[in-house]
Amino acid sequence: MAQDRTDALLTAMGITLWERRPSQNAAVSQGTPPAWQALMEGVRSCTRCPLHKGRTQTVFGVGPRTATWCFVGEAPGAEEDKRGEPFVGRAGQLLDAMLRALALTREAVFIANVLKCRPPGNRDPDPSEVASCLPFLHEQLNVIQPRVLVALGRCAAQGLLATDRPLNQLRGRVHDCRGTPLVVTYHPAYLLRRPADKGAAWADLKLAREILIS
Ligand code: URA
Repeated sequence: MAQDRTDALLTAMGITLWERRPSQNAAVSQGTPPAWQALMEGVRSCTRCPLHKGRTQTVFGVGPRTATWCFVGEAPGAEEDKRGEPFVGRAGQLLDAMLRALALTREAVFIANVLKCRPPGNRDPDPSEVASCLPFLHEQLNVIQPRVLVALGRCAAQGLLATDRPLNQLRGRVHDCRGTPLVVTYHPAYLLRRPADKGAAWADLKLAREILIS
């Protein structure tokens, strides 16, 4: 009652009353937009393809939802499946070094994969698995709206660009991925096998960095 009287007085004085709205759910109160929370839940509970049967857990991706840079790999490996985080094995260590070369850190960029579940025996993703999973990645990118996308390897490049052209024809120029500039480079796991190509990968990363300068 006393509150009603105070409100009436304040209104009479021309003071606008603001009311704190109850939060919709825990995600909102923690600052996670509902769309992102729904996307995380969609990935976590996904059964769109048979890979869900063999996973320990899905690997959603890590990094700020407002990241300027987004790096996309192929699919979780054994270590990523165990830890629920992308690029935590040897290839991940090389990716971290690539980020350092760009004066970036893992915490500053968003890192995801085309597939959110591990293919058995780390085999290549099947086109039907890519088709099922890719919409999740596009939704993530819609929210993040990075200024530059780096496709790590053939699977990410072909998936994001919806092409079957070989990697070497896709490297060396800036593509348009639904309005976001995209640069293609070698997958870190490939670079571990072929360190001689690290120089070419560095040229790709410099091309990606130029996007932010221009
Ligand atoms: N290779 C990938 O493409 N993604 C990972 O998360 C790990 C290795």
